[in-house]
Amino acid sequence: MVMSLENNHEKIPIYIVQKDNRYSVKCQINRVADCLEIGEFCDSQEEALEWVEEECWIFSGEGWICYACVEGIWKKVVNKRQEKEDDRWKG
Ligand SMILES: [Zn+2]
Repeated sequence: MVMSLENNHEKIPIYIVQKDNRYSVKCQINRVADCLEIGEFCDSQEEALEWVEEECWIFSGEGWICYACVEGIWKKVVNKRQEKEDDRWKG
């Protein structure tokens, strides 16, 4: 008898949430108050990923960041840059 190392469960990435055979993508960072936290539940992982792509979520390399968090981060970056510029002109 050959022992198989593969189990019956489909291997799902860490950013995928599975519930009742439906799939969704969760926000990796959950940084802002209006973070979506989780995308729409779809029949497959592929559809769930398509959904977040269409909603302009960003893939970080390890997970997905919802557009609300992306916007929150950008605002922070822009503010910081602005402060730096202001400092420079103040001397
Ligand atoms: Zn988020």
